[in-house]
Amino acid sequence: SAFDRIISSGGFVFINTGQAPDATVIPISHELAESAFDSAACIGCGACVATCKNGSAALFTSAKITHMALLPQGKEERSERVLNMVKQMDLESFGHCTNTEACEVECPQGISVLNIARMNFEYNKALFFKKK
Ligand code: SF4
Repeated sequence: SAFDRIISSGGFVFINTGQAPDATVIPISHELAESAFDSAACIGCGACVATCKNGSAALFTSAKITHMALLPQGKEERSERVLNMVKQMDLESFGHCTNTEACEVECPQGISVLNIARMNFEYNKALFFKKK
């Protein structure tokens, strides 16, 4: 599906991390871990797209991008990831987000539209440094 292709374009970590390390090896604050987990809670149900008058997949895509961008394991590839995932989202012909916030209201997982703000921040930052 279109969601699968968006995930395939960058919604994972390329690095072979080997076996799972002890949970205490990489120090992550409780607040950061909770915030990343809130974004990771997206189940890909598509209710956000269905309710959006523009047919935008911004909430789904941004939840995946934010989840990875907040954690140390995902930071290394964050620029490449956001550029590829947003590009794929556009290729799939989803509409543009116009901040109606209907997606957040309908989302069964309570994914916040702040994820979309994070995605736009990550995207603009990646574009800025790519041009230099
Ligand atoms: S409605 Fe929420 S849980 Fe479902 S795909 Fe959209 S962001 Fe993910």
